[in-house]
Amino acid sequence: MPDVVIVGGGISGAAAAYEIARAGHSVTLFEARVLAAMASGWTLGGVRQSGRDPAELPLARAAVERWGGLDEELGAPTGYRRRGNLRLARTEAEVETIRELVAQQRQLGLEIDYLPDNAAIRAVAPAIAPSILAASLCPGDGHADPVPAVLAYAAAAQRHGAEIREGVVVRALTRSGDRITGVETAEGETVAAGRVILATGIHAPELLKPLGLELPLLIRLVCVLQTVPLPPLFEQVFGVANADAAGRQEIDGRLRVTTGIGTWPHEPTRWTPDLLAPRAADVATLIGRVTQVLPALADAGVSRIWGGLIDLTPDALPAIDAHTGVEGLILAAGFSGHGFGIGPVTGEILADLALSRQPRFDLSSFRLGRFAGRTATPANLTLHG
Ligand SMILES: Cc1cc2nc3c(=O)[nH]c(=O)nc-3n(C[C@H](O)[C@H](O)[C@H](O)COP(=O)(O)OP(=O)(O)OC[C@H]3O[C@@H](n4cnc5c(N)ncnc54)[C@H](O)[C@@H]3O)c2cc1C
Repeated sequence: MPDVVIVGGGISGAAAAYEIARAGHSVTLFEARVLAAMASGWTLGGVRQSGRDPAELPLARAAVERWGGLDEELGAPTGYRRRGNLRLARTEAEVETIRELVAQQRQLGLEIDYLPDNAAIRAVAPAIAPSILAASLCPGDGHADPVPAVLAYAAAAQRHGAEIREGVVVRALTRSGDRITGVETAEGETVAAGRVILATGIHAPELLKPLGLELPLLIRLVCVLQTVPLPPLFEQVFGVANADAAGRQEIDGRLRVTTGIGTWPHEPTRWTPDLLAPRAADVATLIGRVTQVLPALADAGVSRIWGGLIDLTPDALPAIDAHTGVEGLILAAGFSGHGFGIGPVTGEILADLALSRQPRFDLSSFRLGRFAGRTATPANLTLHG
């Protein structure tokens, strides 16, 4: 019987498996598909402190520290680069938004620059359009390659003895009274464990509900486009003041760009790749928005287009909680479009909670109980990489 079972093989689950295994505990991770099959593979891959809710900022800062040493620690490339995050102003109104953002972020103690004109922007990122009026630049932000990062975590976890079982759907968490006793798979196998980490992204509510717990999520669709490899164009992640476009150039030269949040009128338990396929009109919108700030996209060969689902909570903050009323259950879901960058720290926290160690962060803003009696309501979601 493993000390801990983890359900979900995205960045949250894989990082938790690594932290638990390297602490010398037995851990089994169940992944319904393959590692990084959902949000942790669909993602843009931004690693950002700027624009974070103050409650999340300490986690984001600590994550940036962790990312810097991860390649060496995990023994495999995660593609992490700390080259900054540019947030661009296309109109005078957006200039004001950026100015305010810079002032707010500085008050929170973040190092962030204000680039007051196009020349200043193009001095650091010549590929940005001459029409862009101003920008913020947070030099400590960056990006990483999502799938290699998750695989690096999983491989390191396995080297420390973790068992990773892909292609196994967990149908239910089992309980006795108010205690978790393990999990039951879709094949009918039961695996006993006193601690179960639930890190199943948009699929968290369906596994919580039979335990009498509610996580109100709105599911949103984001359109992502990836080009063929291009010569080096810029190194930062870019976003725009109202968050309706973002992008980065991956290490191999591919542009990976996204557009803002769209509704998705389907049942999340039953998504299929076809239901995720962005509409042609949304792809046209994405191309229009991104070429406005990054003209080079217009000439780039398109390699892939996909849709990614976002698990949006009512306050756009995640539920990371071991005090749900069900003893032994540790929840990590509802990352609301920004859970990749903090993944290494989420893994640390989940391991602490599962191993009864005191986490080094204040988690009070992430309690599941804050949503009691609330329905899924639209939060002000921002996607800035
Ligand atoms: C288009 C897009 C762009 C984004 N951009 C950024 C960004 O720039 N920066 C950032 O920080 N974040 C970003 N995000 C958000 C980020 O990707 C997610 O918050 C993060 O990857 C969540 O990781 P996770 O491990 O918690 O969940 P997921 O990666 O969704 O992993 C959950 C896993 O659980 C598995 N699973 C589900 N149900 C079961 C079951 N019953 N049994 C077994 N396994 C199960 C799934 O197959 C899946 O692999 C973006 C997301 C999207 C979609």
